[in-house]
Amino acid sequence: MSIVKVTPQPSCADASDPLSLTVEQARTAIRAALTPIRDQEQVAIRSALGRVLAEDCISPLNVPGHTNSAMDGYALSATDLPRDGVREYAVIATALAGQKVAARCADGECVRIMTGAPMPPGTDTVVMQEQVEVLDNGRVRIDSRHRAGQNVRRAGEDIAQGACVFEAGRVLTAADLGVLASLGFGELRVRRKPRVAFFSTGDELRSIGDTLGEGQVYDSNRYSLHAMLSEAGVDIIDLGVVRDERSALQEAFSEASRVADVVITSGGVSVGEADFTKEVLARLGEISFWTIAMKPGRPLTFGRLAQSTFFGLPGNPVAVMLTFQQFVQPALRYLVSGRWPQPLVIEARTRVALKKRPGRFEFVRGILGYDDDGRLTVGPAGPQGSGILTSMSRANCYILLAEDCAGVAAGDTVSVQPFATLV
Ligand code: AMP
Ligand code: MG
Repeated sequence: MSIVKVTPQPSCADASDPLSLTVEQARTAIRAALTPIRDQEQVAIRSALGRVLAEDCISPLNVPGHTNSAMDGYALSATDLPRDGVREYAVIATALAGQKVAARCADGECVRIMTGAPMPPGTDTVVMQEQVEVLDNGRVRIDSRHRAGQNVRRAGEDIAQGACVFEAGRVLTAADLGVLASLGFGELRVRRKPRVAFFSTGDELRSIGDTLGEGQVYDSNRYSLHAMLSEAGVDIIDLGVVRDERSALQEAFSEASRVADVVITSGGVSVGEADFTKEVLARLGEISFWTIAMKPGRPLTFGRLAQSTFFGLPGNPVAVMLTFQQFVQPALRYLVSGRWPQPLVIEARTRVALKKRPGRFEFVRGILGYDDDGRLTVGPAGPQGSGILTSMSRANCYILLAEDCAGVAAGDTVSVQPFATLV
Protein backbone atom coordinates (compact mmCIF):
# COMPACT_ATOMS: atom_id res chain seq x y z
CA MET A 1 0.00 0.00 0.00
CA SER A 2 1.28 3.46 -0.79
CA ILE A 3 0.34 6.16 1.64
CA VAL A 4 -0.47 9.62 0.49
CA LYS A 5 0.47 12.37 2.88
CA VAL A 6 -2.49 14.63 2.52
CA THR A 7 -1.96 18.31 2.84
CA PRO A 8 -5.40 19.63 3.57
CA GLN A 9 -6.50 22.35 1.22
CA PRO A 10 -6.79 25.53 3.23
CA SER A 11 -10.35 26.32 2.29
CA CYS A 12 -13.49 27.69 3.78
CA ALA A 13 -14.61 24.08 4.46
CA ASP A 14 -14.23 24.53 8.19
CA ALA A 15 -13.86 28.06 9.36
CA SER A 16 -12.78 26.90 12.81
CA ASP A 17 -10.11 24.53 11.48
CA PRO A 18 -8.75 25.38 8.06
CA LEU A 19 -6.43 22.35 8.15
CA SER A 20 -9.14 19.69 8.14
CA LEU A 21 -10.18 17.79 5.02
CA THR A 22 -13.62 17.92 3.49
CA VAL A 23 -15.60 14.66 3.44
CA GLU A 24 -14.86 14.30 -0.27
CA GLN A 25 -11.13 14.97 0.16
CA ALA A 26 -10.99 12.34 2.91
CA ARG A 27 -12.70 9.77 0.66
CA THR A 28 -10.29 10.54 -2.16
CA ALA A 29 -7.27 10.24 0.13
CA ILE A 30 -8.45 6.91 1.55
CA ARG A 31 -9.10 5.48 -1.88
CA ALA A 32 -5.72 6.61 -3.17
CA ALA A 33 -4.00 4.83 -0.27
CA LEU A 34 -5.63 1.43 -0.89
CA THR A 35 -4.51 -1.40 -3.14
CA PRO A 36 -7.28 -3.93 -3.86
CA ILE A 37 -6.69 -7.51 -2.70
CA ARG A 38 -5.78 -9.94 -5.48
CA ASP A 39 -5.62 -13.25 -3.55
CA GLN A 40 -8.25 -15.77 -4.58
CA GLU A 41 -9.99 -18.82 -3.25
CA GLN A 42 -12.56 -21.34 -4.42
CA VAL A 43 -15.93 -21.45 -2.65
CA ALA A 44 -19.11 -23.48 -3.04
CA ILE A 45 -21.91 -21.48 -4.63
CA ARG A 46 -23.95 -21.69 -1.42
CA SER A 47 -21.19 -19.82 0.44
CA ALA A 48 -20.70 -17.19 -2.25
CA LEU A 49 -23.35 -14.63 -1.30
CA GLY A 50 -21.66 -11.22 -0.96
CA ARG A 51 -18.31 -12.59 -2.15
CA VAL A 52 -16.47 -10.91 -5.01
CA LEU A 53 -15.78 -12.72 -8.27
CA ALA A 54 -12.07 -13.10 -8.95
CA GLU A 55 -12.49 -13.80 -12.65
CA ASP A 56 -15.00 -13.21 -15.43
CA CYS A 57 -17.75 -15.87 -15.54
CA ILE A 58 -18.19 -17.20 -19.08
CA SER A 59 -21.36 -19.09 -19.85
CA PRO A 60 -20.81 -22.71 -20.88
CA LEU A 61 -24.44 -22.96 -22.04
CA ASN A 62 -27.26 -21.23 -23.80
CA VAL A 63 -30.06 -20.14 -21.45
CA PRO A 64 -32.65 -21.27 -22.28
CA GLY A 65 -30.88 -24.29 -23.68
CA HIS A 66 -33.54 -24.94 -26.31
CA THR A 67 -36.18 -22.86 -28.05
CA ASN A 68 -39.35 -23.46 -26.02
CA SER A 69 -42.89 -22.36 -25.45
CA ALA A 70 -43.63 -19.41 -23.15
CA MET A 71 -47.30 -20.45 -22.81
CA ASP A 72 -49.64 -23.41 -22.47
CA GLY A 73 -51.26 -23.62 -25.90
CA TYR A 74 -50.83 -24.97 -29.41
CA ALA A 75 -47.64 -24.87 -31.51
CA LEU A 76 -47.70 -24.61 -35.28
CA SER A 77 -45.82 -23.11 -38.20
CA ALA A 78 -46.29 -19.34 -38.73
CA THR A 79 -46.69 -19.95 -42.48
CA ASP A 80 -49.73 -22.07 -41.65
CA LEU A 81 -51.58 -19.34 -39.65
CA PRO A 82 -54.81 -18.12 -41.30
CA ARG A 83 -54.43 -14.72 -43.05
CA ASP A 84 -58.09 -14.03 -42.38
CA GLY A 85 -61.04 -15.93 -40.99
CA VAL A 86 -60.64 -19.06 -38.91
CA ARG A 87 -58.93 -22.36 -39.69
CA GLU A 88 -59.19 -25.84 -38.26
CA TYR A 89 -56.18 -27.96 -37.31
CA ALA A 90 -55.55 -31.54 -36.28
CA VAL A 91 -53.69 -31.99 -32.96
CA ILE A 92 -50.99 -34.59 -33.67
CA ALA A 93 -49.13 -34.78 -30.34
CA THR A 94 -48.65 -33.28 -26.88
CA ALA A 95 -45.31 -31.61 -25.93
CA LEU A 96 -44.49 -31.51 -22.21
CA ALA A 97 -41.60 -29.63 -20.53
CA GLY A 98 -38.48 -31.80 -20.47
CA GLN A 99 -39.68 -34.02 -23.34
CA LYS A 100 -38.99 -33.99 -27.05
CA VAL A 101 -41.71 -34.51 -29.67
CA ALA A 102 -40.36 -36.49 -32.63
CA ALA A 103 -43.28 -36.03 -35.04
CA ARG A 104 -42.97 -33.19 -37.57
CA CYS A 105 -45.87 -30.80 -37.75
CA ALA A 106 -47.19 -30.42 -41.30
CA ASP A 107 -49.71 -28.02 -42.87
CA GLY A 108 -53.10 -28.17 -41.17
CA GLU A 109 -51.54 -29.66 -38.02
CA CYS A 110 -50.52 -28.36 -34.60
CA VAL A 111 -49.11 -29.76 -31.33
CA ARG A 112 -50.64 -29.28 -27.90
CA ILE A 113 -47.75 -27.69 -25.94
CA MET A 114 -47.01 -26.80 -22.29
CA THR A 115 -44.89 -23.92 -20.98
CA GLY A 116 -41.17 -24.74 -21.20
CA ALA A 117 -41.60 -27.64 -23.63
CA PRO A 118 -39.12 -27.61 -26.55
CA MET A 119 -40.71 -26.44 -29.80
CA PRO A 120 -41.53 -29.56 -31.89
CA PRO A 121 -40.07 -29.89 -35.43
CA GLY A 122 -41.97 -27.81 -37.96
CA THR A 123 -43.29 -25.26 -35.42
CA ASP A 124 -42.15 -21.74 -34.55
CA THR A 125 -45.26 -20.06 -33.10
CA VAL A 126 -47.50 -20.72 -30.09
CA VAL A 127 -51.14 -19.70 -29.76
CA MET A 128 -52.18 -19.53 -26.11
CA GLN A 129 -54.91 -21.98 -25.17
CA GLU A 130 -57.34 -19.23 -24.10
CA GLN A 131 -57.40 -18.04 -27.75
CA VAL A 132 -58.11 -21.48 -29.22
CA GLU A 133 -61.48 -23.12 -29.70
CA VAL A 134 -61.36 -26.87 -29.00
CA LEU A 135 -63.94 -28.82 -30.99
CA ASP A 136 -65.76 -31.96 -29.86
CA ASN A 137 -63.80 -34.08 -32.32
CA GLY A 138 -60.51 -33.01 -30.71
CA ARG A 139 -59.55 -30.67 -33.53
CA VAL A 140 -58.93 -26.96 -32.78
CA ARG A 141 -59.90 -23.67 -34.40
CA ILE A 142 -57.47 -20.74 -34.59
CA ASP A 143 -58.26 -17.24 -35.89
CA SER A 144 -56.14 -14.66 -37.76
CA ARG A 145 -54.99 -12.31 -34.94
CA HIS A 146 -51.64 -14.06 -34.28
CA ARG A 147 -48.04 -12.96 -35.01
CA ALA A 148 -45.35 -15.20 -36.46
CA GLY A 149 -42.98 -16.41 -33.68
CA GLN A 150 -45.20 -15.28 -30.80
CA ASN A 151 -44.98 -16.87 -27.31
CA VAL A 152 -41.66 -18.56 -28.06
CA ARG A 153 -38.47 -18.22 -25.97
CA ARG A 154 -35.39 -18.48 -28.19
CA ALA A 155 -32.42 -20.65 -27.16
CA GLY A 156 -29.77 -18.34 -25.66
CA GLU A 157 -32.08 -15.31 -25.50
CA ASP A 158 -31.26 -14.77 -21.81
CA ILE A 159 -27.59 -15.84 -21.89
CA ALA A 160 -25.69 -16.91 -25.00
CA GLN A 161 -23.07 -19.66 -24.73
CA GLY A 162 -19.60 -18.02 -24.48
CA ALA A 163 -20.96 -14.69 -23.26
CA CYS A 164 -19.48 -13.04 -20.15
CA VAL A 165 -22.22 -13.29 -17.56
CA PHE A 166 -20.50 -11.46 -14.70
CA GLU A 167 -17.21 -9.60 -14.69
CA ALA A 168 -14.42 -10.01 -12.15
CA GLY A 169 -15.01 -7.64 -9.23
CA ARG A 170 -18.75 -8.22 -9.07
CA VAL A 171 -20.23 -8.56 -5.59
CA LEU A 172 -22.48 -11.60 -5.87
CA THR A 173 -26.18 -11.19 -5.10
CA ALA A 174 -28.89 -13.82 -4.57
CA ALA A 175 -30.04 -13.33 -8.18
CA ASP A 176 -26.45 -13.79 -9.43
CA LEU A 177 -26.17 -17.09 -7.58
CA GLY A 178 -29.41 -18.26 -9.22
CA VAL A 179 -28.06 -17.30 -12.65
CA LEU A 180 -24.76 -19.09 -11.98
CA ALA A 181 -26.59 -22.19 -10.74
CA SER A 182 -28.67 -22.15 -13.94
CA LEU A 183 -25.38 -22.39 -15.83
CA GLY A 184 -24.24 -25.36 -13.76
CA PHE A 185 -21.55 -23.63 -11.66
CA GLY A 186 -21.10 -25.49 -8.35
CA GLU A 187 -18.04 -23.54 -7.20
CA LEU A 188 -16.73 -20.06 -7.87
CA ARG A 189 -13.35 -18.34 -7.73
CA VAL A 190 -13.66 -15.35 -5.43
CA ARG A 191 -11.29 -12.83 -3.87
CA ARG A 192 -10.04 -13.46 -0.37
CA LYS A 193 -11.98 -11.54 2.28
CA PRO A 194 -10.15 -8.62 3.86
CA ARG A 195 -8.91 -9.42 7.39
CA VAL A 196 -9.95 -6.68 9.77
CA ALA A 197 -8.60 -6.41 13.33
CA PHE A 198 -10.27 -4.00 15.72
CA PHE A 199 -10.17 -2.92 19.32
CA SER A 200 -11.61 -0.29 21.64
CA THR A 201 -9.47 2.07 23.67
CA GLY A 202 -10.34 3.66 26.97
CA ASP A 203 -9.67 3.17 30.69
CA GLU A 204 -13.36 3.79 31.41
CA LEU A 205 -14.54 0.82 29.33
CA ARG A 206 -15.85 -2.32 30.97
CA SER A 207 -16.88 -5.61 29.43
CA ILE A 208 -20.44 -6.85 29.47
CA GLY A 209 -20.93 -8.85 32.70
CA ASP A 210 -18.65 -6.55 34.76
CA THR A 211 -20.15 -4.25 37.37
CA LEU A 212 -19.89 -0.62 36.38
CA GLY A 213 -18.00 1.66 38.76
CA GLU A 214 -18.20 5.44 38.94
CA GLY A 215 -17.75 6.96 35.46
CA GLN A 216 -17.35 3.58 33.77
CA VAL A 217 -19.29 2.51 30.66
CA TYR A 218 -19.79 -0.72 28.83
CA ASP A 219 -17.79 -1.02 25.65
CA SER A 220 -20.54 -0.67 23.05
CA ASN A 221 -18.39 0.33 20.08
CA ARG A 222 -16.95 -3.14 19.78
CA TYR A 223 -20.43 -4.55 19.33
CA SER A 224 -21.66 -2.02 16.77
CA LEU A 225 -18.35 -2.38 14.92
CA HIS A 226 -18.53 -6.16 15.04
CA ALA A 227 -22.05 -6.02 13.59
CA MET A 228 -21.07 -3.61 10.81
CA LEU A 229 -18.00 -5.70 9.97
CA SER A 230 -20.23 -8.80 9.82
CA GLU A 231 -22.51 -7.00 7.37
CA ALA A 232 -19.46 -6.00 5.34
CA GLY A 233 -18.56 -9.69 4.97
CA VAL A 234 -14.95 -9.49 6.16
CA ASP A 235 -12.85 -11.79 8.35
CA ILE A 236 -13.08 -10.28 11.83
CA ILE A 237 -10.33 -10.30 14.45
CA ASP A 238 -11.59 -8.88 17.76
CA LEU A 239 -8.67 -7.70 19.91
CA GLY A 240 -10.78 -6.51 22.85
CA VAL A 241 -10.24 -3.40 24.92
CA VAL A 242 -6.88 -1.66 25.28
CA ARG A 243 -6.04 0.74 28.09
CA ASP A 244 -5.10 4.37 27.49
CA GLU A 245 -1.36 3.68 27.85
CA ARG A 246 1.29 4.16 25.23
CA SER A 247 2.90 0.75 25.80
CA ALA A 248 -0.39 -1.16 25.75
CA LEU A 249 -1.47 0.62 22.58
CA GLN A 250 1.88 0.01 20.95
CA GLU A 251 1.61 -3.70 21.66
CA ALA A 252 -1.96 -3.87 20.32
CA PHE A 253 -1.05 -1.90 17.20
CA SER A 254 1.84 -4.26 16.44
CA GLU A 255 -0.24 -7.38 16.95
CA ALA A 256 -3.10 -6.02 14.84
CA SER A 257 -0.88 -5.04 11.93
CA ARG A 258 0.75 -8.50 11.95
CA VAL A 259 -2.59 -10.26 11.37
CA ALA A 260 -4.79 -7.84 9.44
CA ASP A 261 -5.14 -5.93 6.19
CA VAL A 262 -7.12 -3.25 8.00
CA VAL A 263 -6.84 -2.13 11.62
CA ILE A 264 -9.69 -0.22 13.22
CA THR A 265 -9.66 1.40 16.65
CA SER A 266 -12.22 3.51 18.42
CA GLY A 267 -11.51 6.29 20.90
CA GLY A 268 -8.37 8.17 21.82
CA VAL A 269 -8.11 10.25 18.65
CA SER A 270 -9.10 13.64 20.02
CA VAL A 271 -6.81 16.01 21.82
CA GLY A 272 -7.52 14.89 25.39
CA GLU A 273 -4.77 13.97 27.84
CA ALA A 274 -5.39 10.24 27.39
CA ASP A 275 -5.66 10.32 23.59
CA PHE A 276 -2.56 8.48 22.35
CA THR A 277 -3.75 6.84 19.15
CA LYS A 278 -2.28 9.46 16.81
CA GLU A 279 1.00 9.58 18.66
CA VAL A 280 1.46 5.80 18.60
CA LEU A 281 0.47 5.60 14.92
CA ALA A 282 3.02 8.30 14.07
CA ARG A 283 5.69 6.26 15.88
CA LEU A 284 4.87 2.82 14.42
CA GLY A 285 3.41 3.82 11.07
CA GLU A 286 2.42 6.88 9.17
CA ILE A 287 -0.45 9.35 9.55
CA SER A 288 -2.19 10.53 6.40
CA PHE A 289 -4.77 12.84 7.99
CA TRP A 290 -6.63 13.22 11.22
CA THR A 291 -9.47 15.70 11.00
CA ILE A 292 -12.45 15.96 8.70
CA ALA A 293 -14.73 18.98 8.52
CA MET A 294 -17.82 17.03 9.50
CA LYS A 295 -20.21 16.54 12.37
CA PRO A 296 -20.22 14.14 14.06
CA GLY A 297 -16.94 12.35 13.49
CA ARG A 298 -14.50 15.21 13.14
CA PRO A 299 -11.43 13.45 14.56
CA LEU A 300 -10.68 10.44 12.36
CA THR A 301 -7.11 9.28 12.08
CA PHE A 302 -6.23 7.59 8.84
CA GLY A 303 -2.87 6.18 7.87
CA ARG A 304 -0.69 3.11 7.55
CA LEU A 305 0.57 0.67 10.13
CA ALA A 306 3.26 -1.55 8.57
CA GLN A 307 1.37 -3.30 5.73
CA SER A 308 -2.06 -2.51 7.16
CA THR A 309 -4.44 0.34 6.52
CA PHE A 310 -5.30 2.12 9.75
CA PHE A 311 -8.57 3.80 10.74
CA GLY A 312 -8.61 5.45 14.14
CA LEU A 313 -12.31 6.12 14.60
CA PRO A 314 -13.58 8.56 17.23
CA GLY A 315 -14.80 7.19 20.58
CA ASN A 316 -18.33 8.56 20.60
CA PRO A 317 -20.68 5.71 19.69
CA VAL A 318 -22.59 7.63 17.01
CA ALA A 319 -19.39 8.98 15.44
CA VAL A 320 -17.99 5.43 15.31
CA MET A 321 -20.95 4.19 13.30
CA LEU A 322 -21.11 7.21 11.02
CA THR A 323 -17.41 7.26 10.17
CA PHE A 324 -17.47 3.51 9.62
CA GLN A 325 -20.40 3.78 7.20
CA GLN A 326 -19.04 6.80 5.33
CA PHE A 327 -15.38 5.81 5.04
CA VAL A 328 -14.52 2.30 6.27
CA GLN A 329 -17.35 0.38 4.63
CA PRO A 330 -16.68 1.76 1.12
CA ALA A 331 -12.95 1.26 1.70
CA LEU A 332 -13.52 -2.42 2.56
CA ARG A 333 -15.66 -2.81 -0.55
CA TYR A 334 -12.98 -1.11 -2.65
CA LEU A 335 -10.29 -3.38 -1.17
CA VAL A 336 -12.10 -6.52 -2.23
CA SER A 337 -13.77 -5.40 -5.49
CA GLY A 338 -11.65 -2.54 -6.84
CA ARG A 339 -14.80 -0.39 -6.92
CA TRP A 340 -15.68 2.44 -4.57
CA PRO A 341 -19.44 2.20 -4.01
CA GLN A 342 -21.52 5.36 -4.29
CA PRO A 343 -24.12 5.83 -1.57
CA LEU A 344 -27.73 6.10 -2.68
CA VAL A 345 -28.81 9.71 -2.15
CA ILE A 346 -32.41 10.77 -2.67
CA GLU A 347 -34.36 13.97 -2.09
CA ALA A 348 -37.11 14.56 0.46
CA ARG A 349 -38.86 17.53 2.03
CA THR A 350 -37.83 18.32 5.54
CA ARG A 351 -40.69 18.40 8.04
CA VAL A 352 -38.91 20.96 10.23
CA ALA A 353 -36.27 23.67 9.91
CA LEU A 354 -32.69 22.48 10.45
CA LYS A 355 -30.14 24.88 11.87
CA LYS A 356 -26.57 24.76 10.62
CA ARG A 357 -23.50 26.95 10.27
CA PRO A 358 -21.54 26.78 7.01
CA GLY A 359 -18.07 25.25 7.17
CA ARG A 360 -18.55 21.56 7.83
CA PHE A 361 -20.60 18.67 6.51
CA GLU A 362 -23.35 17.59 8.88
CA PHE A 363 -24.92 14.15 8.97
CA VAL A 364 -28.25 14.48 10.78
CA ARG A 365 -29.76 11.18 11.92
CA GLY A 366 -33.19 11.30 10.34
CA ILE A 367 -36.47 9.49 9.96
CA LEU A 368 -37.63 9.21 6.36
CA GLY A 369 -41.20 8.30 5.52
CA TYR A 370 -44.24 9.09 3.41
CA ASP A 371 -46.77 11.72 4.41
CA ASP A 372 -50.52 11.31 3.88
CA ASP A 373 -50.18 12.56 0.29
CA GLY A 374 -47.55 9.92 -0.49
CA ARG A 375 -44.65 12.39 -0.58
CA LEU A 376 -41.27 11.51 0.94
CA THR A 377 -40.57 13.65 3.98
CA VAL A 378 -37.78 13.59 6.53
CA GLY A 379 -37.09 14.95 10.00
CA PRO A 380 -34.41 14.52 12.68
CA ALA A 381 -34.47 11.36 14.80
CA GLY A 382 -34.39 13.20 18.13
CA PRO A 383 -31.42 14.80 19.90
CA GLN A 384 -28.25 14.76 17.83
CA GLY A 385 -25.49 14.46 20.47
CA SER A 386 -22.75 12.15 19.21
CA GLY A 387 -23.04 10.01 22.34
CA ILE A 388 -26.79 9.44 21.90
CA LEU A 389 -26.73 6.05 20.23
CA THR A 390 -30.51 5.54 20.49
CA SER A 391 -30.86 8.28 17.84
CA MET A 392 -29.01 5.94 15.51
CA SER A 393 -31.42 3.10 16.32
CA ARG A 394 -34.41 5.36 15.71
CA ALA A 395 -33.00 6.76 12.47
CA ASN A 396 -33.42 5.15 9.07
CA CYS A 397 -31.35 7.69 7.13
CA TYR A 398 -28.90 10.55 7.27
CA ILE A 399 -30.00 14.02 6.22
CA LEU A 400 -26.97 15.39 4.36
CA LEU A 401 -26.20 19.05 4.97
CA ALA A 402 -23.19 19.94 2.82
CA GLU A 403 -20.32 22.21 3.89
CA ASP A 404 -21.75 25.41 2.42
CA CYS A 405 -25.32 24.87 3.69
CA ALA A 406 -26.42 27.54 6.17
CA GLY A 407 -29.54 25.77 7.43
CA VAL A 408 -32.83 24.84 5.80
CA ALA A 409 -36.42 25.90 6.33
CA ALA A 410 -39.35 23.55 6.94
CA GLY A 411 -40.64 22.32 3.58
CA ASP A 412 -37.26 22.70 1.81
CA THR A 413 -35.91 19.83 -0.23
CA VAL A 414 -32.86 18.13 1.33
CA SER A 415 -30.56 15.27 0.31
CA VAL A 416 -31.06 12.06 2.23
CA GLN A 417 -28.96 8.92 2.43
CA PRO A 418 -31.26 6.02 3.43
CA PHE A 419 -29.78 3.21 5.56
CA ALA A 420 -31.77 0.60 3.65
CA THR A 421 -34.28 0.43 0.84
CA LEU A 422 -37.39 0.12 3.02
CA VAL A 423 -38.68 3.04 5.07
P1 AMP B 1 -12.55 9.41 23.42
O1 AMP B 1 -12.48 9.87 21.99
O2 AMP B 1 -11.68 8.24 23.69
O3 AMP B 1 -12.28 10.56 24.33
O4 AMP B 1 -14.04 8.96 23.67
C1 AMP B 1 -15.12 9.86 23.49
C2 AMP B 1 -16.34 9.38 24.24
O5 AMP B 1 -16.76 8.13 23.73
C3 AMP B 1 -16.13 9.16 25.72
O6 AMP B 1 -17.30 9.57 26.39
C4 AMP B 1 -15.95 7.66 25.84
O7 AMP B 1 -16.31 7.16 27.09
C5 AMP B 1 -16.86 7.15 24.77
N1 AMP B 1 -16.35 5.88 24.28
C6 AMP B 1 -15.11 5.66 23.82
N2 AMP B 1 -14.98 4.36 23.47
C7 AMP B 1 -16.15 3.76 23.72
C8 AMP B 1 -16.63 2.44 23.57
N3 AMP B 1 -15.84 1.49 23.08
N4 AMP B 1 -17.90 2.17 23.92
C9 AMP B 1 -18.69 3.13 24.43
N5 AMP B 1 -18.31 4.40 24.58
C10 AMP B 1 -17.04 4.72 24.25
MG1 MG C 1 -10.88 7.53 25.33
